[in-house]
Amino acid sequence: MKTAQINDDKIVIKEIENIKLDGRKGAIVKVLGCGLCGSDIVKFRHKISPNGTVLGHEIVGIIEDVDSETQFSKGDKIVSSHHIPCFNCTYCEHGNYSMCEHFKKSNIMPGGFSEKIYLSEEHLKNVAYKVPDNITDEEISFYEPLGCCIRAIKRCNLKEGDKVLVVGLGSIGLIMAEGLKAFGYKVFGCDLIEKRIQLASSKGIESFNSLDIETFNKIIRSKTNNYGVDAVFMTSGADKAIDVALKTVKHGGKILVFSSTPLNNGYANNEIYYKELTVLGSYSPSPDDLKDSFDLITSKKVNVEDLTTIYPLSNIQMAFDDTVLNKIFKAYIKISQV
Ligand SMILES: [Zn+2]
Ligand SMILES: [Zn+2]
Repeated sequence: MKTAQINDDKIVIKEIENIKLDGRKGAIVKVLGCGLCGSDIVKFRHKISPNGTVLGHEIVGIIEDVDSETQFSKGDKIVSSHHIPCFNCTYCEHGNYSMCEHFKKSNIMPGGFSEKIYLSEEHLKNVAYKVPDNITDEEISFYEPLGCCIRAIKRCNLKEGDKVLVVGLGSIGLIMAEGLKAFGYKVFGCDLIEKRIQLASSKGIESFNSLDIETFNKIIRSKTNNYGVDAVFMTSGADKAIDVALKTVKHGGKILVFSSTPLNNGYANNEIYYKELTVLGSYSPSPDDLKDSFDLITSKKVNVEDLTTIYPLSNIQMAFDDTVLNKIFKAYIKISQV
């Protein structure tokens, strides 16, 4: 079977032996396609993952072989996430599932950019769903990334009608904004790239250029009775985005950190103290968040249409390159036909 593997500065297609159940409980899934996540780009570009790693985790596929007490059978089209918590450790008991050791260790094998993967019985039980006919493969591939957003949104525990700002309107910023809308919040967005601002605006997210922070802050103040927004969602990986958040957030408001930044700068101590801000991070979704994500996509309460550009597996390098160059919003790697 073909896999896409990291090989120094390139992603190369390598043939490896077909993956089989070999007595394990779980399923072998023929991967129809897999979304390219921002975290895949970071792992590749910053050499976090070693050579030979098969990246990709936003998979849609068809069950080819199954040995498990499960609701799924051969031929079912499913979507699955890649990590599962143990539900028992101190992290899990406190709801911090993505800090759980078992969560971090569990994965789909060898990785999503592969013609076939092995999904464990735990995956089938906790984080896999049958894909209904009314939804395209590309749409349902947002299941895991939207799950990440849902967790971030729930962690902020906002009030209905609260006003929020999404900083960064790449694909994850857009689906964060869509998720926030579905939860009933008034959503503003900002970015530095004009075509992103236009796309977000066309989807009903009032969006602005935040290059001049003072001007942008005036706009936000004018739309929030001069208070600022109740929460800022930081999907941008730019260091300067931190200034935007501290400027536009309301006293007593929340800043949700959703991306790493190159300089790893902190949020100013005295701003947090005097304004009684809450700064909180959110990394990866729990099975409950994923269930919500699945429901929101399949009921079309969250709109994920027309966000992807499709690349064949043989062209995966271009998908990485185009994403890095901001030529596209979100790459979807098409791997097999039904
Ligand atoms: Zn992802
Ligand atoms: Zn745990």
